[in-house]
Amino acid sequence: MQPIVALLCGICGERLTERYFVAPDGLPRCSECRQMEPLFARAVAYGSYDLGLRELIHLLKYEQVRPAANVLGRMLADAIACLAPAFGAVEPVVVPVPLHREKLRQRGFNQSELIARAALKIRPAGQEWRLDTAVLERVRPTESQTGLTRPQRVENVRGAFAVRGDVAGREVLLVDDVFTTGTTAGECARVLRKAGAARVWVATVARVLRVEPAFQMPAREVEQESRPQPLKAVAAGV
Ligand SMILES: [Zn+2]
Repeated sequence: MQPIVALLCGICGERLTERYFVAPDGLPRCSECRQMEPLFARAVAYGSYDLGLRELIHLLKYEQVRPAANVLGRMLADAIACLAPAFGAVEPVVVPVPLHREKLRQRGFNQSELIARAALKIRPAGQEWRLDTAVLERVRPTESQTGLTRPQRVENVRGAFAVRGDVAGREVLLVDDVFTTGTTAGECARVLRKAGAARVWVATVARVLRVEPAFQMPAREVEQESRPQPLKAVAAGV
């Protein structure tokens, strides 16, 4: 399981597969983020949601192998470290995406919270990442997002979350196991921003990426102009 090495959208982390736009902030944008900036400031992930990483997440979520959270936590900490240089003067409050209470009862734990706790144990010296699981509540159960179109996904999560903590003027770092299309992160960011959060960052262990690039640049051009970089470098705007 390796970090993503690809040219990624500097905002949502999607793989860039066609001509892309570099904004004045120096970050490349995918066409969706160019058309409408997401409500979160930036989303980063450690790796692509496939093969070993997918299996590891499934081990934790569906087979209750809790030690898997420690490995995933290290990956999440890596993803967070990419975002850290962009945080404001006050460290953001770390908020795992909550499960609905029924789902929580069935599973017995929230995988995002376990992964976040593992990540926070190994945070770099000097970083004050504080976890707060009471900030967000999933107030209604949602259907599985699998197989839904984007508008259906947006509709499915609309109004599913409520803010229970004071986030006015605060930066929030939302953490989750997988970033699929960003509709869950977008909805959480929407309610957090509505409650006064200054900025919402998103870090996940894995991200669903477009499979095949739609174009290939000549190797020399790639080398000189837009050399694919690990997610870390792209996310940090280096
Ligand atoms: Zn994007």
